[in-house]
Amino acid sequence: MTTWIRSGSVIDPLKGVVEKTDLIIEKGKIARMLPRDEFKEQGPQINIIDASGRFIVPGLVDMHVHLREPGHEYKETIATGAMAAAAGGYTALACMPNTVPPNDCRSVTEFILEQAKRASLVRIYPVAAITVGQKGKTLTEFGDLKAAGAVAVSDDGFPVADSRIMKSALEYARYHGLAVISHAEDVSLSGDGVMHEGAVSTRIGLPGIPAASEEIMVYREIALAGLTGCPVHIAHVSTKRSVELIRRAKEEGLPVTAETAPHYFSLDHDSVVGYDTNAKMNPPLRTPNDVEAIKKGLAQGVIDVIATDHAPHSPLEKDVEFDKAAFGIIGLETALPLTLELVRSGVLELPEAVRKLSYNPAALLGIQGGRLEVGSRADLAFMDTEHEYVLSEKNIFSRSRNSPFIGMSMKGRNVLTMVGGKVVWEKQA
Ligand SMILES: [Zn+2]
Repeated sequence: MTTWIRSGSVIDPLKGVVEKTDLIIEKGKIARMLPRDEFKEQGPQINIIDASGRFIVPGLVDMHVHLREPGHEYKETIATGAMAAAAGGYTALACMPNTVPPNDCRSVTEFILEQAKRASLVRIYPVAAITVGQKGKTLTEFGDLKAAGAVAVSDDGFPVADSRIMKSALEYARYHGLAVISHAEDVSLSGDGVMHEGAVSTRIGLPGIPAASEEIMVYREIALAGLTGCPVHIAHVSTKRSVELIRRAKEEGLPVTAETAPHYFSLDHDSVVGYDTNAKMNPPLRTPNDVEAIKKGLAQGVIDVIATDHAPHSPLEKDVEFDKAAFGIIGLETALPLTLELVRSGVLELPEAVRKLSYNPAALLGIQGGRLEVGSRADLAFMDTEHEYVLSEKNIFSRSRNSPFIGMSMKGRNVLTMVGGKVVWEKQA
């Protein structure tokens, strides 16, 4: 079977250009790339997909997702999370280890991969815990976890508070070819905080999480990268000073990379006024000044990756008082339109935005993806950048609905997702 994707505009983020090219897909791969309508073969063995008016990009890669299986399947399963990912234009995701039990041993990693295979939607890459039980005391068996299929290690949800253990983690991870993803937070400083510590928290009377609780740990990770020469990736960067620290580290040539999430460049701490628990996440929404710094960090290449930190929670955890609510929001189905807003406002060129959503995270994790060239896997997303809609609970595929963007106008969306040449999701007209 041959699939002819005709009349679309193709973006390879590494080439940085948009080209009017037809794609011929065979055996799950891009077999040929031809000028528009040069393909002449006909017949029942040719499956034609009309992509006119669409941008075809490499399937998006999300390196920071919380699937809730095993343990909290009422919030999300591997299958429902994979479906939400496919709907959002993702063809691959890396799932964090803070499940119940946590992914700190081979059997849990294998279980996740087994469930991913059963769902058979998008490619799922487990991130294993850095420490046993994510308790920060004893390193997990990195070699064993890598052999089982883990691509990275992280104690995400928690920092690795002990610097000596983090130093060893960086060294062992490099030896085993695993990326290290740091949840940078000094929890003693965050204390009982539930939102950004600043003018808004004072006004509405909620305990704050200072920007410094992130920045102290960002600097610790940079210092450890300097000490060991080992790479470290900083998750969900949210403050101006974090961006500055990472900028300087990169200028010094240290192997430090960083990600942010769409909510950190789309919303600020004013969203918490009214006590909407869907504006509660960790790190918290910061000041407008921080939002500008995050955008600048993205534009200048200080922040390499846009990841969602997709964190499903049910009404049990969210329909409660603000200070009792769980941290986190879903994000797989809103990342693309929110990132396209950065393109429209001139922060990023379209190919660069796509690169931060696909090639860069794939390269960091050492997995295939993010390229669109002859021979690459036919993992594709078709974007309609002009489609306008209001995000409603009804059209969310995630099992959870905890999004601050529900009811907001969105522009641009994924309309078709292909994994290995197979259509796994298509927007119904
Ligand atoms: Zn985290």
